[in-house]
Amino acid sequence: MIREKYLSLIIILLLFIGLSSCADSDTGETENDPNPVLLISIDGFMNEYIERNETPNFDQFISEGVQAEYLIPVFPTKTFPNHWSLATGLYVENHGIISNSFYDYELDARFSYGAPDGQHDSRWWGGEPIWVTAEKQGKTSVNFFWPGSEATFDGVQSTKWVDYDGSIPDSTRIDSIVAWLDPVGDIQADFGTLYFSFVDSRGHSYGPDSPEVDEAVIEMDGLLGYFMEKLEEVGLTDNINILLVSDHGMSAQSEDKVIILDEIINLDDVDIIDWTPVAMIRPDEEKTNEIYNTLKENEENYRVYLRDELPERFHFSNHYRIPEIIMIADNQFTITNREYFEERGVVPGMHGFDNMVPDMFTFFAAKGPAFKSGAVEGPVESVHMYELMAYLLQIEPAENDGSLDEVLKFLKQ
Ligand code: AMP
Ligand code: ZN
Ligand code: ZN
Repeated sequence: MIREKYLSLIIILLLFIGLSSCADSDTGETENDPNPVLLISIDGFMNEYIERNETPNFDQFISEGVQAEYLIPVFPTKTFPNHWSLATGLYVENHGIISNSFYDYELDARFSYGAPDGQHDSRWWGGEPIWVTAEKQGKTSVNFFWPGSEATFDGVQSTKWVDYDGSIPDSTRIDSIVAWLDPVGDIQADFGTLYFSFVDSRGHSYGPDSPEVDEAVIEMDGLLGYFMEKLEEVGLTDNINILLVSDHGMSAQSEDKVIILDEIINLDDVDIIDWTPVAMIRPDEEKTNEIYNTLKENEENYRVYLRDELPERFHFSNHYRIPEIIMIADNQFTITNREYFEERGVVPGMHGFDNMVPDMFTFFAAKGPAFKSGAVEGPVESVHMYELMAYLLQIEPAENDGSLDEVLKFLKQ
């Protein structure tokens, strides 16, 4: 009798060992049950911000995880195009969010990041964001902010999302996301996004080299510490894959570096879809060549291109929303007009420039069971993040411009 009891105990033990060894010993996750994935964006965050400040929480995150030398954003290096490329894995010409605000002549409507209607209307947003890919495949997604998270795709949206309201405290965003990810909570999300804007705002108002930015960075470091504590409380510290990214860097502007557009061309002949540092110019149809030639003759402190001649690396030609003439200011220059400049001057910090300008390079670090620990790898383009997240979630990616091969270097082998 006793021997039989021992025998069944041994069988149960063996079964248990067998089951646990099904788990992937490297990633600590089973084939059917990947760890949750969280994508965090700190808007306008440069690598050098960490290097020049006391940031114990960033330092710990990076030392426990893996960091890229830098993240290469997409062109133009603005907030909405870049967040949408991070979410969809598409270059801008393939997703159509060509700037933060722009006019669509086919829809005869303006998209503006300040106007909530546009946020909800899926016609603006090309491609499929990772949270929708996840929901379509039976996962649960949540967003405490991300551009595009307010819109529905094929009738699908995240289980939880919030209309953008920049005044919602950052700690509330963290508390909510952690509650939604809690493995014994009501939602038990598989995928989440979290977004913080104040480092970018501070960069615009005071310039990237300012003490005010340093203060913001230290504040962000405190929030990261708070977030890690909250994760600990729900037992997720070592059971979640976290991607910490930003959308672009920041460059210092000054009033002696301006391009006064109405001193080069007649603004009555054009619609300016976006001003600076990339002027997107839609000329009256018969005037295209004349205006392009004038801009070309005066090409100083900027480059001007016809849309279809823009170098391939920008991936910014093949979308009907992109207008005929694209003028890209050299780093640190502002494109403006005389009246606006006299009234408002220039803002101390700006982004939007050529995505290969080093000031536009930005930040990527990741930590969790799937990632290497204590490693710094080479640069990576932000369009590959979608593939990486699909891989981590073990879901089939939608069509996109990224490649998993480009991000394998961050993963444990
Ligand atoms: P930028 O003007 O390119 O510096 O963009 C940063 C700003 O975008 C932030 O300060 C926010 O005001 C705004 N923003 C960020 N995310 C969203 C969102 N999901 N919906 C509306 N506005 C947003
Ligand atoms: Zn931004
Ligand atoms: Zn910004």
